[in-house]
Amino acid sequence: MSERKYGNEYGFLTRAVHAGNDVDKDTGAIKRPITMANSYELPYDPAELNWSSAGKALYTRNGGSNQQYLQEKLCILESGEDCVALASGVSALSGVFFSLLKSGDHVVFSNVTYIAVYRLLNELLPSKYGIETTIVDTSDLEAVKAVVRPNTKLIHIETPANPTLKISDIEEIAKIAHNVGALLSVDNTFSSPYNQRPLELGADLCVESLTKYINGHGDAMGGAVIGSKALIDKIKSEAMINNGGVLSPFNAWMIMRGCVTLPLRMKQHNDSALKVARFLENLDAVRFVSYPGLESHPGHEIAKKQMKNGYSGVMAFGLKADHDTNNRFVSHLKVITSAVSLGHDESLIVFLGEDDERQYLYPEEFHGGFFRLSVGIEDSEDIIEDIRQALEKVSLWG
Ligand SMILES: *Cc1c(COP(=O)(O)O)cnc(C)c1O
Repeated sequence: MSERKYGNEYGFLTRAVHAGNDVDKDTGAIKRPITMANSYELPYDPAELNWSSAGKALYTRNGGSNQQYLQEKLCILESGEDCVALASGVSALSGVFFSLLKSGDHVVFSNVTYIAVYRLLNELLPSKYGIETTIVDTSDLEAVKAVVRPNTKLIHIETPANPTLKISDIEEIAKIAHNVGALLSVDNTFSSPYNQRPLELGADLCVESLTKYINGHGDAMGGAVIGSKALIDKIKSEAMINNGGVLSPFNAWMIMRGCVTLPLRMKQHNDSALKVARFLENLDAVRFVSYPGLESHPGHEIAKKQMKNGYSGVMAFGLKADHDTNNRFVSHLKVITSAVSLGHDESLIVFLGEDDERQYLYPEEFHGGFFRLSVGIEDSEDIIEDIRQALEKVSLWG
């Protein structure tokens, strides 16, 4: 662990650069090395060790040095007490659910979430483990209040949510959760800690897919949970050590490196996405644009309150076009790549067709099929021109 500490007395950019890094004692290198070893030398008497303890120099599944440096950085960026870095965003989410819930517990979760959350909370945990779950529109506080029960142990939300960009009020939902003794976990993947810090708004756990903005370069995968030491200890023990969802040292090192430029990249994502959203909103060929930075977004006022620096790079929109024209439009894009994932350096688009089984949970305008666009850090003029020329090719321009 670092001897130099970079806490909240420093600005976000300073923390993004320095937190978790230190001079390497052995070589004097000013960057900590990547340690590709899965085991560490034992003390004179190993009988003193608990083989299931986290953070000891013991075995890399108990937490290797690169994972720990990354945890230190993320903890400081999200204003948390402790952090666990895991193999993917989904292993972080399942780590929260499987470590903190048991049969008979009740969970309330948002009707718009990442697909794996829907599978876990709507299907797997209820059918196999006897956990009761309720799906609710978490942008409606009265609806959330109406479904919490004495045995509600967790409320889980995403804001902005994947893929509709629905906004939920973190501060108010934290109060509802705490009133019944439940925890609030917030998937912060779409915002990153540069734009929004759920723990400062009262959430108990902040979950990140590091694969997206935090790594930012579309290469490594990872996930993290940040929160109190007591909760994170439990997730380290169960999700990392005993369920094996550990992050590799190489990916930890890659994500740590990517994260240094998080604030600079987010500034560009915030700025370009707002320009692209405004461009789309003014086109006749566009049925709707959902971007929390637009005044027309139903969650704009709440987003303004809790997303301090901007609205990130992801939006959803629909064209006045049939299924085939939607696919042809994508095929003509030259700057924007057709691929899943988001928060990369490059712009990515995915056509979510009319047959998504969860469409019944989405607002009416999404039912006709829509695009999720993740605006990258290319020149915004080039992104806009790319969309314009592709619309022209399918006769939807002018
Ligand atoms: C991508 C994503 C995840 C899952 O992360 P992986 O790293 O792909 O496992 C979770 N939540 C949100 C909001 C995401 O966009």
